[in-house]
Amino acid sequence: MSEERPKLASSCLNKDDLIVVGGAGGFIAGALVRYFHDQGFTRIRAIDKKPLPEWYQRTPGVENLCMDLSEKENSIRACEGAAEVYNLAADMGGMGFIERFRVECLRSILINTHMIEAAYQAGAERYFFASSACAYNTELQKDPNCRALKESDAYPAMAERGYGWEKLISEMFCQEYWAERGLKTAIPRLHNVYGPLGTWDGGREKAPAAICRKIIEAKDVGRHEIVIWGDGTPTRSFMFIDDCVKGIDMIMHCEELIATPINLGTSELVTISELVSMVEEIGGVKLERQHDLTAPRGVAGRNSDNTFIQKVLNWEPKTPLREGLEKTYAWIEQQYMDRKAGKRTVS
Ligand code: NAD
Repeated sequence: MSEERPKLASSCLNKDDLIVVGGAGGFIAGALVRYFHDQGFTRIRAIDKKPLPEWYQRTPGVENLCMDLSEKENSIRACEGAAEVYNLAADMGGMGFIERFRVECLRSILINTHMIEAAYQAGAERYFFASSACAYNTELQKDPNCRALKESDAYPAMAERGYGWEKLISEMFCQEYWAERGLKTAIPRLHNVYGPLGTWDGGREKAPAAICRKIIEAKDVGRHEIVIWGDGTPTRSFMFIDDCVKGIDMIMHCEELIATPINLGTSELVTISELVSMVEEIGGVKLERQHDLTAPRGVAGRNSDNTFIQKVLNWEPKTPLREGLEKTYAWIEQQYMDRKAGKRTVS
């Protein structure tokens, strides 16, 4: 176990150093921008290809730019003067999206390819890429009770088609930019992230948000059943957004983790059926379950082995699922009601 306390941006950067965040109109990067702003950083450049009114959150005092980062010139403009660059821009969503739109997922390679080169040319000190648990070998995830994935399990490679392979290749870019050019890179493999201000409807949402929405809707319209994708047996772990953002900061500023893939997720494993039960409890209902066995379902089991992150950072994401879900449910319920009332919402 490391003796030193993990370093954070607040101890590595000056408050007026420029922090660039790609994908900031989305869930995780939007939360990251807010986090840096709350730490007192005064120069944050947030970029997303979505028009500004569609961003999930916009933090006051931040330079918000609407640009497509898969274009080289835009990446160069985005990284100008940056001390640190965080690339969380990607065309992505839950299983329903990544199983159906593999070309879009693969094309996110353009974003990272241009952003890392632009960050390097701009003389940035550090570069962050949001990798994913989908980079792991799918052969190891065929059983709901399979062992948790450790960092070495990405190779021999058999990543999730499309989305996972893009992550794996972009990880390699990060490793080689460090090895050949000395750019310090951080490459956590994120496991399912959930929380307020994330996608909750429209086809890109992930299981926790989708289940919250379905239960809220069933209650609202007086329906007594819920449709669940798959047979309910697949297992997953889910990380609350606050833990994710803190983990990103710690991993980015840890010298021992330069160019080193590392799990960023919880090890609290649940079946999809258990997840539904938890949300039902929060919503105070019990619904009849219909299983849609034709729907996309992803791998049978996936969990995060946190031995490495514990060893290096003496930390792991620890918000209990139940606690994070309560906050998420309350937020989605408000969104649902707002939408019903004709107000603007995130999804
Ligand atoms: P998100 O969809 O909410 O945010 C991604 C943002 O990137 C979107 O706002 C989108 O408009 C933007 N974007 C897409 N293409 C772009 C382009 N060419 N130029 C500029 N912006 C572009 O997704 P998220 O959940 O916040 O995920 C952020 C990152 O974390 C992604 O790289 C994702 O693959 C990774 N990740 C997320 C999870 C999760 O559970 N949410 C898990 C593993 C990895």
